Amino acid sequence: ATDAATRTIAVAHGDGIGPEIMDAVLHVLRHVAPNLQLQPVTMGEAAYRSGHMNGILPQTWDILAEHPVLLKSPMTTPQGGGYKSINVTLRKTLGLFANVRPCVAYHPYVDSLHPGMDVVIVRENEEDTYGGIEHRQTDEVVQCLKLITRPGCERIVRYAFEYALAHRRRKVTCMSKDNIMKMTDGLFHRVFDEIAAEYPQLEAEHRIIDIGAARMAARPREFDVVVTPNLYGDILSDIAAEVAGSIGLAPSANIGLHGAMFEAVHGSAPDIAGKNIANPSGLLLASVQMLLHLGDTAAATAIHNAWLRTLEDGLHTRDLFNERTSRRCLGTREFAHAVIE
Ligand code: NAD
Repeated sequence: ATDAATRTIAVAHGDGIGPEIMDAVLHVLRHVAPNLQLQPVTMGEAAYRSGHMNGILPQTWDILAEHPVLLKSPMTTPQGGGYKSINVTLRKTLGLFANVRPCVAYHPYVDSLHPGMDVVIVRENEEDTYGGIEHRQTDEVVQCLKLITRPGCERIVRYAFEYALAHRRRKVTCMSKDNIMKMTDGLFHRVFDEIAAEYPQLEAEHRIIDIGAARMAARPREFDVVVTPNLYGDILSDIAAEVAGSIGLAPSANIGLHGAMFEAVHGSAPDIAGKNIANPSGLLLASVQMLLHLGDTAAATAIHNAWLRTLEDGLHTRDLFNERTSRRCLGTREFAHAVIE
């Protein structure tokens, strides 16, 4: 076994459909990477219920300090004041500065509005209005701080260019609203132009986020790698995942200097929880990203190929099922079995 294969990863089962899709994914992982050690951690509703307002038990931090690679199912954020988002807390505490979201059309095996689409969104993950720094100024005026730093811009933009090189991509597009937010987005765009000059082998362009997002919905094949500040990246990656085929297929890698977290793009889907009908593909592809991050290319390739073959065979979960491309409609557990077969 390689070092990667014997690594211990932290595993959070999540809320809603979280436990079902995690069980399915771990079932596949146990077949392909049997020496990978799994350390369960508690976060989500159970932690909120026991009075931890950030949704994470204190002992979870100790485990993450020792095993800073986390495979995480979606969590339900309780409504109402006082509760903090687990994801925002994890990203800031573990310094997960890059959020990498591939959005790929699997046409003709999965219906897509845009066959041939293959876009990777690299979203800045710690700064911007998403930091949740909000103030009440008066009873009628509230304020949210949009924080953008030069080191933060440099780190994410360089990550996007290095990612493009490593994955043999041809172009990096920066999206911002620097025509209006001249200082904050202006800095992001300026840093992009500076760093782009160091990568003459890659095409570089800038688009204003509003028309850029419209183009992503209508003509996504114009894009390859996209780098953008936090909030725009959040919205743009959901659009891109949905027009590629289904948000249920999209994975998300959160990469930091000292740790990494891998999850599906979608949420905890309480409307279909406990019914064995959720699609585990987003989390399964996140586990592929995780294995690549750990350096276990063989296991990552094995899972990715088996998953593609399962889709090609027309074995689909309910969200992807249609009479033209599907042969059988499988439950969450049965889909995982088909991938293993
Ligand atoms: P959602 O992504 O959970 O669900 C949106 C729709 O997509 C629902 O109809 C759902 O049934 C469907 N869907 C989602 N994933 C699916 C899958 N794997 N297979 C089949 N269908 C799937 O979004 P929401 O309803 O806005 O949010 C529900 C909860 O999830 C909220 O509490 C939200 O805060 C939380 N959330 C968590 C994360 C995370 O932990 N990373 C991300 C987004 C939302």
